[in-house]
Amino acid sequence: MILLPASFERQMKMILGQECPAFINSISDAVHHAVRINPKKTRPIAWPNPVPYCSTGYYLNQRPIYTLDPLFHAGVYYVQESSSMFLEQFILQSQKKPLRILDLCAAPGGKSTHLSSLISDDCLLVSNEVIRSRAGVLSENLRKWGNPNVITTCNDPRDFSRLPGFFDIIVVDAPCSGEGLFRRDPSAIEEWSVANTDHCASRQKRILADVWPALAEGGMLIYSTCTFNTAENEDNITWLTEFSPVEAVSLELSEDWGIVTTDANGIPCYRFYPHRVKGEGFFTAAVRKKSAVESVMSQKIKATLPLAGKAEQSLFSGIIENLPLSLLKFEDNILAFPTILLSALDQVKSALRIVHAGIKAGEIKQSSLIPAHDLAVSTIVNHSHLPSVDLSLEQSVSFLKRDDFQLDFKEKGWNLLTYQNHALGWAKNIGNRFNNSYPKEWRIRMSTSEYTGERLAEEARKFPPVSPHS
Ligand code: SAM
Repeated sequence: MILLPASFERQMKMILGQECPAFINSISDAVHHAVRINPKKTRPIAWPNPVPYCSTGYYLNQRPIYTLDPLFHAGVYYVQESSSMFLEQFILQSQKKPLRILDLCAAPGGKSTHLSSLISDDCLLVSNEVIRSRAGVLSENLRKWGNPNVITTCNDPRDFSRLPGFFDIIVVDAPCSGEGLFRRDPSAIEEWSVANTDHCASRQKRILADVWPALAEGGMLIYSTCTFNTAENEDNITWLTEFSPVEAVSLELSEDWGIVTTDANGIPCYRFYPHRVKGEGFFTAAVRKKSAVESVMSQKIKATLPLAGKAEQSLFSGIIENLPLSLLKFEDNILAFPTILLSALDQVKSALRIVHAGIKAGEIKQSSLIPAHDLAVSTIVNHSHLPSVDLSLEQSVSFLKRDDFQLDFKEKGWNLLTYQNHALGWAKNIGNRFNNSYPKEWRIRMSTSEYTGERLAEEARKFPPVSPHS
């Protein structure tokens, strides 16, 4: 039995009344494992346990060692706590098609990869993380996810006031006291105190106030935490209703989802308790902005990134899918970015610190192309046009570790290495050996000596099958 702080138990008794013992017991229960599939890369084959409120979410019966699964590195799925996947309902059930979305507190990228799969190709996702090292991890996860209509930034929430009225949806998945993670992460229990929940509640208000000007009139702000106390949840939503004129956003829920609806000054709030749902603690609510803002999109901004020249563009012919993308020059690299979103990219670049934008397609050195790893794992690479070698499970792990091994190539030069036809990265066949282009900083570092042959295959079987690249 996990020992909880007495003041936390008192707080939960006030919130849950008679249900409190069931809640307390559930904190000692086993954690549920879930993943979300990347719909641009695959579809699951006969997976038995879907997450009810997420079209791409699935529970796993046991936890595989994800590091040993090549599909994890190929961005075929994202490991995510299932309650968080409820975000999908706000996007699906909102009447308006968004054009620009901001995920303000986005690292490591659970909600951003999800949003990126939910929006259409002509919609922009700006995924922001204020802490620099965490912004790097966020960018890595989004690059593996592979969609071109994404920009990662590393900015403080107040910097977004430079883009008034720019976003149709803002997601604030706020830093919080983490009471909903007690089961998954017992160290969160040690860090918990009433003083810390108060501190978190004030910081959350500051974040909301700072980012509010960037939301368009009629735009939706989705707020969430993974904590239970009302100060960080309903009280902050009530505060927001007093801070600025807003309208409620109500969702239709199915009763068997087990979600509890509460009210914050007329705004419905959705609570996830571990004794009621197959997931961890979570809180979320959304509002629509009623006050007018003059949008920054009416201001003209000079284009900042030049288009690649004809000769450079021709090097990518056939390698990149025939999509409405522009190839741009950024330092020594060529980026692929949706043409329709170029002026939005210029606006973002003029106001924020960009970590990555679109898909890094490659570098051109002495008139030849060095294709970028990001392009290999992207959703825009033209698989059918490229020479490729499909690797076994053991070869894939060796490639991802950057170990030396022998491979039979049919063609010289750049080859796409795949596992179950999902791209893992590039290798350059130079005759008697090949150069492994898998990024050094992303390579598998764990010792895999005990995971060979049947032991490795056994690990892989814990993961239900997915379809090969479509
Ligand atoms: N949305 C993420 C996901 O789904 O993977 C999880 C976000 S986590 C709950 C909150 C994030 O807020 C952390 O990455 C944290 O670094 C960031 N953060 C911390 N302090 C912040 C601040 N003052 N303003 C904005 N973000 C902050």
